[in-house]
This record gives sequence, structure tokens and C-alpha cells, in this order.
Amino acid sequence: MLKVNNIDVFYGNIHALKEVSLEVNEGEIVTLIGANGAGKSTLLKTLSGLLKPKKGEVLYQTQQIGGKPAQAIVKVGISHVPEGRRVFSTMSVEENLELGAYLRTDREEIKKDIANVYGLFPILGERRKQPSGTLSGGEQQMLAMGRALMAKPKLLLLDEPSMGLAPLIVKQIFEIIKMVNEKGTTVLLVEQNANMALSIANRAYVIETGKIVLSGTAKELQESEQVKAAYLGGL
Ligand code: ATP
Repeated sequence: MLKVNNIDVFYGNIHALKEVSLEVNEGEIVTLIGANGAGKSTLLKTLSGLLKPKKGEVLYQTQQIGGKPAQAIVKVGISHVPEGRRVFSTMSVEENLELGAYLRTDREEIKKDIANVYGLFPILGERRKQPSGTLSGGEQQMLAMGRALMAKPKLLLLDEPSMGLAPLIVKQIFEIIKMVNEKGTTVLLVEQNANMALSIANRAYVIETGKIVLSGTAKELQESEQVKAAYLGGL
């Protein structure tokens, strides 16, 4: 479904991604794990059109999407939930969800999809009129995911959904990611929480200072001594 071939991405002189290649097949949850500053967010920003690769290609289905504008990428079916959630805090929960559907014109379907999001995240339904800035961190993460789902993506890019959240909430969020995947959305999940990410993923990649250093099935990486020592707290 998605094929990244040897991309190089720079911020000025900073070489943030170095010949990165990875693949996501339809129906999978693939996770990209790595420490702070390894380049995880940079990769997602490149896939969603916020950054342009200097070299290499990004193929989605059969189209070359590397360097295309963000709006064109949403249109082909890729939605990005950025790190730090970034909901529109003065707008209500429901208005945020409506914004997620800004490229759609099918009003009736949009209403149904808002109801589906409330089915997935009942707390958002209860808070539908509330300004989203007043939601808890976990609720804001749910709203950011709900907003991305309103674009009806085939591929969902999630940037550190566990960041700053209590373990119980992280567990809930991960259960929902699994549910969204089971309903047919392919997921590329970027995480520092390798334990949780590997527990729901089919396959995984490890990124260190802009380079993919390891890849395999989630099970293989959970059992890898290198991954255990560096990312699973030496378990
Ligand atoms: P984190 O989890 O901390 O966000 P990350 O793995 O997502 O880490 P990136 O944010 O992708 O890492 O950053 C990769 C590298 O690029 C880092 O060295 C970072 O300092 C650098 N970088 C990121 N954004 C910029 C920017 N806007 N300008 C310059 N350098 C940047």
C-alpha cells in the first residue's frame, strides 16, 4: 500500500532522514519505534506532505506522492494525527470533527461518521458541545484521532498517541487503534513506547539518528536482545 524508497530529508543542513525505506501493507499495523529526535515525526511529516524529500520516492498504491501538497495526500486517503494532538481549542468537539471532513461534501454521510466517532469514543459524544481546550489530554488525543478518521482515511499516520498520558488511558487508546484497524484502516504508528506499540503491531521498524537500523515482525523485535536492551527497559 505504501512504499518508501531511500528517502533523504533535511532541515537546512540537518540531515534528519538518511536513505529511509519502509513498507506498509494493506490491513497492517506497522510501528516505527525510536528515541527522541531519531526522525520519527520527520518521516510522518514527509508522508503527509508537510516536508519534501530531497531524494528517494514515496509510493502510495501506485502513485508517487513524495513532495505532493498535504491536501492532495489527504485526498488519496492518508490522514495524519500529529504529535501533541493540536486540537482547535476554542472550537467545540463537534466542530473539530466537522473540520476533519473539510474535503468532503457528503453531508448525510458526515453526520453518520460523526456518530461513528462517538461510538468509538463515547466520552467525545458526551462532550460534543464543550470547547476542546477544556478536554483532558487523553480526550484530546481521542479527538485528534476522531478528526483524522473523519477524512475516511485508508491509511492513518499516528504520531506518539501515548505521549504524556497515564498508562490506563494509553491502554484505552491502543485498544481503539486496534479496533480502527480491525474495521479496515491501515495504521502506521510512531511511538517511543515500544512495549505498547509492539503489542499491537504486525511489523516494526527501529529508527536511530535518521536511519532504519532494524526491522521485522513485532514478535521478532520483542524478542530481539538489541531492542530489549535499548527500548524495552532491559526486560
Ligand atoms: P520526538 O519524539 O522527540 O519528536 P522524533 O523521532 O520524532 O523525536 P524528529 O522530530 O523527527 O524526531 O527529529 C529528527 C531530527 O530533526 C532531530 O535531530 C531534530 O532536532 C531535527 N529537527 C526536527 N524538526 C526540526 C526543525 N523544524 N528544524 C531543524 N531541525 C529539526
